[in-house]
Amino acid sequence: MAKIISGKDVAEKILITNIKPKVDDLKLKGVIPTLVVILVGDVQASASYVRQKEKFAAKAGIKSEVRKFSETAPEQEVLDEIIKINKDSDIHGIIVQLPLPDHISVTKILNSIDPSKDVDGFTPTNVGKLFLGEETLVSCTPKGIMLLLESVNTDLKGKNVTVIGRSNIVGKPVSILCQQKHATVTMCHSRTKDLTAKLSDADVIIVAVGVPKFIHGDQIPMGSIVIDVGIHNVDGKLCGDVDFESAQNKVSAITPVPGGVGPMTVCALIENTVIAAERLSNKN
Ligand code: NAD
Repeated sequence: MAKIISGKDVAEKILITNIKPKVDDLKLKGVIPTLVVILVGDVQASASYVRQKEKFAAKAGIKSEVRKFSETAPEQEVLDEIIKINKDSDIHGIIVQLPLPDHISVTKILNSIDPSKDVDGFTPTNVGKLFLGEETLVSCTPKGIMLLLESVNTDLKGKNVTVIGRSNIVGKPVSILCQQKHATVTMCHSRTKDLTAKLSDADVIIVAVGVPKFIHGDQIPMGSIVIDVGIHNVDGKLCGDVDFESAQNKVSAITPVPGGVGPMTVCALIENTVIAAERLSNKN
């Protein structure tokens, strides 16, 4: 019987047992970890992520604020706000909710964030440090995936991990993190030939493709662990990149959608904000 890895439960436990005590310590020193979320336009999906971030922030006892801009706000207006936040010593974490309207350059916006407050881990400085294995703020979804694997006591040393998808926000960073844990990583993407063959000796499969129910049980080796990053609304029902029904008969453990990687991404964001607050307050 496959274990269903509940990201919701793991996130809740980490928030209360690991993160909240650190927040309480910081508060005793007069530091209230504070996250600012920049939201441009009125994207429905972004609004629901933002609500989840606020809920988790409240659970951990950190302060979270949303700064909203209209869909037509000029790029410079958003940049000016980021520059202001970079200088504000009461704010420790900043994230810009993506996607942004077409007239705003994502690269320009992300590059303007002070790396020490870049709790999404998207700035070139933090991505570079991750690559080099230096202390950094690790981007949230890959960090959340590693926490999920830890929660089921997966020692990656010498294991075969197959990552499907090579995006900058999921596939590439999670492959680096798995290598740092001494796994042998196979990276697959849209030009990979015979994907099923690449999965045949996988101990762990991480799927971040963005196609509903893309991976089926018949492609999954018996007893592997599957982490499903995808999230889709198909005919009003949420599903992932993995066909859960057929996969669950093959795996030893699998994440559900919803309630798997999603809550862990938000949990990692809150943890990054607390780490940033600790590091910034030690500098002052
Ligand atoms: P992306 O579109 O940036 O990248 C998709 C990757 O999949 C690409 O590297 C591409 O090469 C690969 N791919 C596409 N078709 C393929 C095929 N036929 N065979 C093999 N590889 C193929 O996507 P992303 O940003 O990494 O997101 C992936 C999914 O994860 C999406 O559904 C997204 O909504 C979801 N997501 C969820 C969270 C979360 O917190 N739950 C966070 C980030 C992304």
